[in-house]
Amino acid sequence: MSIVRLYGRAFLRGAIEPDVLLTIRDGVLEVERAARPPEQVQRVEGIIAPGFIDLHVHGGDGADFMDADASANERILRFHAHHGTTALAATTLSASPGDLQAAVGSIARSARTPSEGAEICAIYLEGPYINRERAGAQDPASIRRPDLEEVGALLALAPGMKWLMTVAPEIEGVRGLIERYRSEITFSIGHTAAGYAEAVAALEWGASHFTHLFNAMSGLHHRDPGVVGAALTSASATAELIADGIHVHPAVLRLAVQAMPQRIALITDAMRACGLANGTYKLYRHDVMVGGGAARLRDGTLAGSVLTMERAVQNMVEQAGLPLAAVLQLATEVPARILGVADRKGKLAESYDADVVVLSPQLAVERVFVGGRECSRSED
Ligand SMILES: [Zn+2]
Repeated sequence: MSIVRLYGRAFLRGAIEPDVLLTIRDGVLEVERAARPPEQVQRVEGIIAPGFIDLHVHGGDGADFMDADASANERILRFHAHHGTTALAATTLSASPGDLQAAVGSIARSARTPSEGAEICAIYLEGPYINRERAGAQDPASIRRPDLEEVGALLALAPGMKWLMTVAPEIEGVRGLIERYRSEITFSIGHTAAGYAEAVAALEWGASHFTHLFNAMSGLHHRDPGVVGAALTSASATAELIADGIHVHPAVLRLAVQAMPQRIALITDAMRACGLANGTYKLYRHDVMVGGGAARLRDGTLAGSVLTMERAVQNMVEQAGLPLAAVLQLATEVPARILGVADRKGKLAESYDADVVVLSPQLAVERVFVGGRECSRSED
């Protein structure tokens, strides 16, 4: 494999540092400081950052992980790599047991197959053991009570994979599910009608994460803190934010990051229309209308997003007014920690995977490397 040497400002140890020399060799990184650029180096005008890690993404470029199809998976991985994502958690929806098995099996096969795009490093089961009252765009007919055997069979389809799962703590059987599988699955509270006390209890059972904070859960009221209050006041739980400026107001994006420093992961929650023209698209069994930068069911309910990680990072800087170094952390180090891959991803550090994104001074994605291989950006 060829050697690539990049020189310039880089996101290193939590800050934007000048004079960084990054060598990509055999799929891993070598990082050093050099006051002067050595010969045969590619100078970067903008910023060198670790590749983005999107821990909640359903699809893009016309494809959805629920399609249970190798070429659909490949489309998603390529599309999001073009927008800076080098690793992701392939995310499923509430679906029939057969459809979930098919999707998980297909994702597991794609994760083992070399790709031209982002690496699949986890599977995220968003449902089906959630609350029908807060289904959002999830198929109500597929939402059901926890079935420990079903979960065991899904885990068996992808040995060695990292797992996340969204559950509603108030649903009968969820406590037993968390207590049974908490060492294998990162349980996330979401699509829930629970109140504050139930969410706090779920953290004690072993849940540790919140699915798209603020969306599809009880909000913060000063006399009734809700699930959002449980997240914002928790000591160690992590949470996701959809930073498209539509799901959550930019001021509230900033508030959440201030309340949960180093514990917020930016996600896209992108669905298949991401990257395509406005129109009508399928989200599992339902039609979703895309327009005005949003995806909605016929009744107006938000149905995932058409966001990319590139845009999410830009929005957190431009709309939420946060410093770039703080924002990059939420797209790299924090999701790496949540997914359990922080020992090899999420940072520009010696011997780490060569997952690298080069940003322009305006924060547009210019070049992307996954495991040291540059992703061609010729198609978009
Ligand atoms: Zn989702």
